[in-house]
Amino acid sequence: MMTEIYYDRPFYHFACPWCGTMVEVHEGEINCQKFVCGIDKVSGMGVHPHMSEETALAIFRANTAWGCLHPFFFDGKVVLKRTYG
Ligand SMILES: [Zn+2]
Repeated sequence: MMTEIYYDRPFYHFACPWCGTMVEVHEGEINCQKFVCGIDKVSGMGVHPHMSEETALAIFRANTAWGCLHPFFFDGKVVLKRTYG
């Protein structure tokens, strides 16, 4: 399934491949191509992209971030589910 990606410079907008929530990625942040679906409720920043599944589950249960805390790949063209790490 192809995810539609909207590029409104400098931001990309697309649906999380896991939960469908709209995700916003700055064009300067796609270098390592790994992301986790989550925005910290306090800082408003994206959660750490290389967290472990344990950490993601802990954040999800604590409900301190918006998003499903599942990992995905994004290179500016394609959005794919991936594994943690
Ligand atoms: Zn998600």
